[in-house]
Amino acid sequence: MSELDVNTILKGTIGLTKAALGIRVADEQDVTERRNICRACCYRKIVHHKILGGDVAKCTVCKCYIKPKTLLKDEKCDDAPPRWNKL
Ligand code: SF4
Repeated sequence: MSELDVNTILKGTIGLTKAALGIRVADEQDVTERRNICRACCYRKIVHHKILGGDVAKCTVCKCYIKPKTLLKDEKCDDAPPRWNKL
């Protein structure tokens, strides 16, 4: 496994853990709006997650997994300018 893969998995795992712990989780409407923006974004990519064993959406700008990233109030889109912001 390459260093990039390990970093990517770690970053995604941290995001998932924060989401699972309920750390400043955005409300459903905001999450839906963010995910709709990501869904239409050219930087969104579907990748196979080796640990989860399924396909997940990932941002190729920040390398985050979109599902946990969009759940957290303190996250923002890392494109310039951001396509969505912190809440
Ligand atoms: S976080 Fe921003 S750059 Fe990444 S997929 Fe979503 S909208 Fe696109």
